[in-house]
Amino acid sequence: MKTPYYSYDLGLLERTVQQLIFEAKNYNIHYAIKANTDERINKIIANYGLGADCVSGNEIKHAIKCGYNPNKIVFAGVGKTDEEIEIGLINDIGCFNVESMQEIKVINEIASKLNKKASIALRINPNVDVDTHQYIKTGINENKFGIAFENIIEAVQLIDACKSIELTGLHFHIGSQITNFRNFEFLANKVNYILNFLDERGIEIEHVNLGGGLGIDYENPIENSIPNFRGYFTVFRENIAIKPHQKVHFELGRSVVGQCGDLVTSVLFIKEGMSKKFAIVDAGMTDLIRPALYQANHLIVKSKGGTNPKEKYDIVGPICESSDQFSTNYLIEKLKRGDQLKIKSVGAYGQVMSSEYNLRKKPGVLYTNIPLELEETLTHSLHLN
Ligand SMILES: *Cc1c(COP(=O)(O)O)cnc(C)c1O
Repeated sequence: MKTPYYSYDLGLLERTVQQLIFEAKNYNIHYAIKANTDERINKIIANYGLGADCVSGNEIKHAIKCGYNPNKIVFAGVGKTDEEIEIGLINDIGCFNVESMQEIKVINEIASKLNKKASIALRINPNVDVDTHQYIKTGINENKFGIAFENIIEAVQLIDACKSIELTGLHFHIGSQITNFRNFEFLANKVNYILNFLDERGIEIEHVNLGGGLGIDYENPIENSIPNFRGYFTVFRENIAIKPHQKVHFELGRSVVGQCGDLVTSVLFIKEGMSKKFAIVDAGMTDLIRPALYQANHLIVKSKGGTNPKEKYDIVGPICESSDQFSTNYLIEKLKRGDQLKIKSVGAYGQVMSSEYNLRKKPGVLYTNIPLELEETLTHSLHLN
């Protein structure tokens, strides 16, 4: 197959979803479909009964097309257009996660016009700082997301006064690629405080949505191909204080799909620079922007590994931007023109962020399905479905 292309291991995807469901037990899981909107991947996830967390009207339509139950769809985002709100209402989605006072009023107006009643969860900015890249922190006061704790009562009163909406939940999402579980412990404690604060004032909350953010192991994707769902849910089980009637929701994106995708690329040229060696590959930031956008590091392996001595390369793409590089001083077995490389752990925020900058074609897609018992021996070969 012509490189560059995304290669998805659907067997690993299934095992990941199965493990997630097993560990989540009585918690409700919504897959954050912005991480990967591929139809085949989403049909598999929807088939396991997960809900969908959508951040645009088109994602809502796509989720329904992929088989998610509309009443298990939640709609988040700071800037929902009237048309997108209508799409949510017409499809009777489960919940709107609202992020501002004005949005509350607008959803009420549109719902009233359409003769619908919308369920609303207030997205609260818990002011919890997390150790992750600054572009993917979302839960501190400087971020554009959510309503401040100080404005909760005002928001609740506003919703009370609106006839076509009702408050059902609280929503939180503190950021992405979080691997230090202390961050989730802080979140749980903040949530407890807020739930208690509302309870004391007689304000009823049916569900608490704790967002997503569970990180994956980009350094050891083969050893840790399935994220630590048990550890993640245990933090909440041990720390969150909910009433028996209250439901707990999560919206996981990266951890569901991140490890099932590789980006396969070919070495075009080896160039000896003045002080460096460059491996110029045919994939670029148009195919995978995470390294350029978030300084993300992905493991890169040769498709057909051998035992040649290793050398250091800057592995770069062909785009006319200096940020178009996958790794600098990367130690890998000696490369030559025509070698194929796999950039690992690109199932989340990879293909969905690809663009046609430089009038490049979008990357292709290959689905593979490697049964568990063969996975270890076949990690380096592709199996056509
Ligand atoms: C992006 C996003 C998620 C998913 O985050 P991951 O880090 O991929 O798990 C969940 N909830 C909201 C509101 C989001 O914007």
